Amino acid sequence: MFNELALNERLLKALDKLELTKPTPVQQKAIPVAMAGKDLLVSARTGSGKTAAFVLPILHRLLANEAPQSGARALILVPTRELARQVMKQCEQLGSFTFIKSGMIIGGEGFKEQRAMLRKNPEILIATPGRLVEHLDSESLDFNDLEVLVLDEADRMLEMGFSEDLLRICNACPGERQTMLFSATLKRRGLDDVIDQALEKPKSLILDTPRKQHTDIKQQIILADDTDHKIALLEYMLQNDEFDKALVFSNTRDMADRLCGIMRGKSLPVGVLHGEMDQRERNQMMQHYRDGHYKVLIATDLAARGLDIKGIDLVINFEMPRNGDDYIHRIGRTGRADAEGAAISMVCAYDWNLKAGIEKYTNTRFAKRQIEGLIANFKGPKKLKASGKAAGSKKKKVAGKNKTAGKKIFGKKSVGKKPAPKSKQHDPKSSGRRRDASLSSAEDSGFASPKRKKTT
Ligand code: AMP
Repeated sequence: MFNELALNERLLKALDKLELTKPTPVQQKAIPVAMAGKDLLVSARTGSGKTAAFVLPILHRLLANEAPQSGARALILVPTRELARQVMKQCEQLGSFTFIKSGMIIGGEGFKEQRAMLRKNPEILIATPGRLVEHLDSESLDFNDLEVLVLDEADRMLEMGFSEDLLRICNACPGERQTMLFSATLKRRGLDDVIDQALEKPKSLILDTPRKQHTDIKQQIILADDTDHKIALLEYMLQNDEFDKALVFSNTRDMADRLCGIMRGKSLPVGVLHGEMDQRERNQMMQHYRDGHYKVLIATDLAARGLDIKGIDLVINFEMPRNGDDYIHRIGRTGRADAEGAAISMVCAYDWNLKAGIEKYTNTRFAKRQIEGLIANFKGPKKLKASGKAAGSKKKKVAGKNKTAGKKIFGKKSVGKKPAPKSKQHDPKSSGRRRDASLSSAEDSGFASPKRKKTT
């Protein structure tokens, strides 16, 4: 129970108001260590309640030792603007019975306005690294009073190319501080450097390894012949599967936009989210998705980390993600806080090696799903090797009864009894052979983190 953790009364009151009574495992382990002021290195699964695991000890510390005239006393670094908003919200909710103020420094918002906000000296700053460095460069803030530094989703920040910014920020913080680093995996390349430079004799808490994660998510694959076939499968699933909110991942912005356009053309309530949209559009889209105006969001990996949206019970990987960690984060958008969810990945010939690598990495064997009328000619690499005829030799099955159709989701627009749409792409000649140069080989799917800026 939270009241056994000796947290400040005002925080217990807030937890009570939020109806949170029992700490999650990561909170149970991390909060006492963090309250003792020790450096912490935590690997915990996404959706495990890790935000409160660092926000509560920060608030407790700031309350125990008030310093009204000081500048920022805690800095929380996160990889994306969306995650920053979520962390900010938790700071406000958990601190709702205190006078502790939080401020946000993220890209896509006015620099001048942020400067004005900084002049009000919020005790907690939540920031994305790029914009924070701009403020450091322009000397609009300093960290002389900083007591706690949190690096949240550190693996993701490194993957996004923020390693220099991270080290720069760590160096701008006083040496006498507490540092807590949270990461889904502690194996990310470059993480050792950050740990060496930013943490001092940290207590290491490994709550979950990727292999142990997500037992509450049903993981399936569905074979496809090519992109058109995937589009037909997607349309079918969005029209016939039973779900409250679905999140569809594509690997590129172009594909996300394209899918959104096609699905809207079929009158499906679909939104899109990727890094090319400006902040206002992104916020609006998230709001529409949260409030159920859109039941489906098509997104790039921008949405894979940290986003906590209630009620996502279906994740569809239109393309296999490029590595195992991205897969874990994508499917982690469902099955949060012990809810159940399903994750379905579409696998073409060019996704196969990634799929095999991800199965190995997560120690999971994905169940195969088939949709009558949309069964792929592609059956896996063995048949490919056999002969060119193999892929095309079987007659395409005729659309039959829909095994999966249940309750319809889109009200009047749902077409549950409609037979599965015909796949336009079943060209036996092309089936299962096309390779997309941008996608990886088996070696590439070996989950080392390439040092690159991600363009989600
Ligand atoms: P996080 O891993 O921080 O993104 O949290 C995932 C979800 O778990 C959020 O919606 C939190 O509100 C929720 N949560 C956090 N702590 C608890 C708790 N002790 N009991 C139940 N839900 C929680």
